[in-house]
Amino acid sequence: MPAPNYRDVVDHVMTAVRPYIGEGKVADYIPSLGEVDPNQFGFAVATVDGEVHGGGESKTPFTIESISKLFALALVLSHDDRAIWRRVRREPTGDPFNSLIPLQISKGIPGNPFVNPGAIVVTDQLLRDTGDAYGAIRALLRAETGNPQLHVDAVTAHSEATTGHRDRALAYLAADFGNMLNPVDETLDHYFRQCSIMISCEELARAALFQARHGVRADGSRLISEEDARGVNAIVLTCGTYNAAGEFAYRVGLPCKSGVGGGILAVVPGRCTAVAWGPGVDDKGNSVAAAAALEAFAKLAGLSLF
Ligand code: GLN
Repeated sequence: MPAPNYRDVVDHVMTAVRPYIGEGKVADYIPSLGEVDPNQFGFAVATVDGEVHGGGESKTPFTIESISKLFALALVLSHDDRAIWRRVRREPTGDPFNSLIPLQISKGIPGNPFVNPGAIVVTDQLLRDTGDAYGAIRALLRAETGNPQLHVDAVTAHSEATTGHRDRALAYLAADFGNMLNPVDETLDHYFRQCSIMISCEELARAALFQARHGVRADGSRLISEEDARGVNAIVLTCGTYNAAGEFAYRVGLPCKSGVGGGILAVVPGRCTAVAWGPGVDDKGNSVAAAAALEAFAKLAGLSLF
């Protein structure tokens, strides 16, 4: 299939998304996210050949939140691609991302790496592997974006740490079942900081290109094996938007990873990544405008996997 004209596609997406900008509700369970202007919107596409096309506020940094979970998983797989699968499964839970119930039922083994308990276990493993989980994620993002200034928003990290009772409960429940390697508060400190990294649509699209390049980083070195890159894309498709993953597969037809900061990353293996950001999210924590934008993108560019 010939490559679409991505510049035109981005412009058409910007028109198609207009009615959805400002829709949804900012995720005020994290107090600092509740202060973000809901009427912002950005969109960017990065291709494996190095083109980057942006629309709207594509250069405005926003909080990465759960999209960081993809980078944490890739880093853990880059160290030892087997160990983590004894600690977390690869099955969609069909429950909200912060539900305690599936973790209790499965005796402390989270359903997948993208619900919060699974991500906390992945960060715990990365902390054991590297001694600095947050630092490893930030270093990867800095290298892949080429932005050495990329940093955590200290206010959001503090906001998450002081109100993240649910995440604390999940981590302690996992610990009770023997599924935490480090002191719980230490792992959570890294988890809250990784979620509070500020990044723009253009940067995030660039940073995730290794997933479109079957595991290969911007400098040509390999982060993870082809098999693991395929596996991560499969988990992103089936679990990346939680209990809306079926709906995303239907509407967008691409692996999508969302965060409650309003960003959604989509991967088109072999071709490109696309990132949309609108701060208003629905009751499942997925941005309303970003979902509409990615649906339009896949349709206009003819890129649904199905
Ligand atoms: N930091 C958020 C939390 O722990 C991440 C959730 C999300 O983006 N879905 O609740």
